[in-house]
Amino acid sequence: MALDRFFRRRRPQQQASTDAPELWTQCPACKETLYNRDLDTNAFVCPKCGHHLRLDAQRRIHVLIDHDSFRQLSGHLHPTDPLNFQDTEAYTARLSRAQEKTGRPDAIMTGTGSILGVPVTVAVMDFAFSGGSMGSVVGEEITRAAEHAAQAGLPLVIVSASGGARMQESALSLMQMAKTTVAIEALAEKGLPYISILSDPTTGGVTASFATIADVILAEPGALIGFAGPRVIQQTIRQNLPEGFQRSEFLLEHGMVDDVVDRREQRQYIASLLGLLMKRAVSA
Ligand SMILES: [Zn+2]
Repeated sequence: MALDRFFRRRRPQQQASTDAPELWTQCPACKETLYNRDLDTNAFVCPKCGHHLRLDAQRRIHVLIDHDSFRQLSGHLHPTDPLNFQDTEAYTARLSRAQEKTGRPDAIMTGTGSILGVPVTVAVMDFAFSGGSMGSVVGEEITRAAEHAAQAGLPLVIVSASGGARMQESALSLMQMAKTTVAIEALAEKGLPYISILSDPTTGGVTASFATIADVILAEPGALIGFAGPRVIQQTIRQNLPEGFQRSEFLLEHGMVDDVVDRREQRQYIASLLGLLMKRAVSA
């Protein structure tokens, strides 16, 4: 009986601790505790300080694409381990863990849908899956999304969030840089617009390939965007880097991105932009 009372006493406490993270999120920038429902209606931007929280693929689709318009194209390709790669842990074990955590086969989700009624093909990366790294599946899904856009006569919108190429796939991962670039070039030949949105963080092989060859390159406020990390650059050029180096606002000032757009205004911004660009694409 005493044991039974012990478990009864403990159960409510366990319940409270597992429920709490689903209701509240702490802003990583200003540390304010935010009600998740308020964050949801504010496109996961902190209402207090304007910090743009990182989004997984599902939430990114939710804030960008008209509700009920999304039809998924990706999800049928699963990563393999052709190099039998192992560092401190086997690549297959890392993959299984990431798949279990995110509920998707790899760090990407693609599909079709509309933004304020404008039809698009969309691809969003998921930083929560292995740091959004680009392996063979991410490269192939981006390529297929670009090919689908070209076939269907739709504009392409890609939201990047990536630590770069996936080292566990070595050269196979680096090959994706060339492959995605060629697929996007084919879209350009058809006169169809491609808009790239760089979110926090976009680095390495993704920055050096499809993310920065768009007709219009937008960045989210405060996002880290670059190729190599600041420490590597500093050691190479042996100079101190300026304040805010590799952040969206700095890159806008230096001409690497076309605009920095608050997430809450992105749907309106992209729909207007595509309205103009698609008119041109149809008449060309
Ligand atoms: Zn905040």
